[in-house]
Amino acid sequence: MIKIPGEDDLPSGAHRNLLTNLHDLYRRAGFPGIKSISNASTRLNDNCDIISHQGVSNTLSGKSIPRWSKLESLVIVLASLDVTRPEPRKVAQEFQSLWINLVAPPTTNNDTTEPPRRILTNQHAQPSPIAVTAPTFKASRGISTRIRRDLQLEAGGKCSVPNCGSETIELSHITRISHGGANKFGNLICLCPNHHAWFDRGRFSEQEIRLLKARFAWNQRRYSDVEIMWLGVFSKRGGTHFVHPSSDRASLHSLEADGYIELTDSGLDDSKDSMDTWRLTDMGTRLAAVWSDSGAPPSNIR
Ligand SMILES: [Zn+2]
Repeated sequence: MIKIPGEDDLPSGAHRNLLTNLHDLYRRAGFPGIKSISNASTRLNDNCDIISHQGVSNTLSGKSIPRWSKLESLVIVLASLDVTRPEPRKVAQEFQSLWINLVAPPTTNNDTTEPPRRILTNQHAQPSPIAVTAPTFKASRGISTRIRRDLQLEAGGKCSVPNCGSETIELSHITRISHGGANKFGNLICLCPNHHAWFDRGRFSEQEIRLLKARFAWNQRRYSDVEIMWLGVFSKRGGTHFVHPSSDRASLHSLEADGYIELTDSGLDDSKDSMDTWRLTDMGTRLAAVWSDSGAPPSNIR
């Protein structure tokens, strides 16, 4: 069992705050062994990373601050062992805020400021050529390598705006973090610095950028037939919740990993008839709204 370091070794602040919460979770999980935590992380689905037993040990003892993908796996493993059985993804979201606070503390600059203005207020920090890219880098810190890679592949390593062709790309949040947007594949898109600035200034709407994502997803067959069926249903009918057999949960994997749906109620048992209840997230609702415009055939339901 690993103990939380004393205040002398780890004074109060963002790191201690994160660690205190992590140790609460560790305690409620019954102090599982570090090797069994690491082993459990190898069995996680949902695009999760693997955390080594050394990584578990260094994180819990406060010796190092892990990358988000590692901390996420640790939190999900512990949450799944928690006696109160919370929803592991929800717990991970709370931890992500703590982690972001630690690695990228909020600055006094307002997040909604236009990029060029931000550069002007940044005179103390760096000469301007570096300052131009700094906000993007900072905003991208919590994004896993896998998501970055998927985003680059999605747009072919170029700006996502048709016919732009620029190979200088930045990751842009479609819904800003300050407006509740997440570091999920579904909320991110590759844009060149010009089109990124256009989007930030409102020359592209969120809906237009979502339509680009929907077209990519449809063209590249990112989603399973089952996922496409549900997107078609919501696109046509609206609504936010659906039930789906627990035994077929795997076929909803990509929509969940991309942040478009979340499990609100898992089926009661392992039987064949067990049903899960899913909810379309706000982002999922917006994707569904443009889905049939992306070229996907309208769904046949009446
Ligand atoms: Zn562009």
